[in-house]
Amino acid sequence: MCNKHKILVIEDEINICNFVKTILETNDYQVLVAQNGSTGKTLFFSHNPDLVILDLGLPDIDGCDFIQMAREQSAIPIIVLSARTNEADKVKALDLGANDYITKPFGTNELLARVRATLRTSRFQGIGDRQIRQKVQIKNMVIDYEARRITIDKQEIKLTQTEYNIIELLSVHAGRVLTYSEIIKKIWGYSDSGSIKKLQVNMANIRKKLGEQPGEYLYILNELGVGYRMNEDNEE
Ligand code: CA
Repeated sequence: MCNKHKILVIEDEINICNFVKTILETNDYQVLVAQNGSTGKTLFFSHNPDLVILDLGLPDIDGCDFIQMAREQSAIPIIVLSARTNEADKVKALDLGANDYITKPFGTNELLARVRATLRTSRFQGIGDRQIRQKVQIKNMVIDYEARRITIDKQEIKLTQTEYNIIELLSVHAGRVLTYSEIIKKIWGYSDSGSIKKLQVNMANIRKKLGEQPGEYLYILNELGVGYRMNEDNEE
């Protein structure tokens, strides 16, 4: 009972709030609900949740202000709910420290997948990314972190160091979106005007080598205008 993950949902639309609460409780999470930002803040401080699901459009405060406030206090994972199709809002929330986002309307599976992936990657933070596991399997692709080798159906895929590093980074955060700037910072350590182009060229080569056809996303999803997301691995 006490090892249930505690999730704080901050959302002013009653229907969405109830929908999220029901799904999470059915799947054995403990849920706290706030219908405005100030109640959300109070519950955040008094209950120390494991995860926050936050609507960006709240009646009393800007969701982005909540993220900023929360990040000054803790590294608690935050998933943003956004009705807006504006990519800039999602990127802003992610850059302020949100871990992921879900665009409304969303379904049960998407919500649960995001929650699982976010709780999992946050649990691994601080352990040192590469020590998580020696190998990971995503569909028929196996990433061997020890050997820095990738195989698909036991056939080795020849990659450059940079291409391997990008796949490894995305796989460690499988299920979670990483923004362009996050990836660029971690892979090259700096960014300039050509960075996004450089990343896109590498991604195009990676896709080709992994055997993905145009418009097909077996392993890596392209979140247009935001970043990239690797499909969740097979293990739970
Ligand atoms: Ca709202």
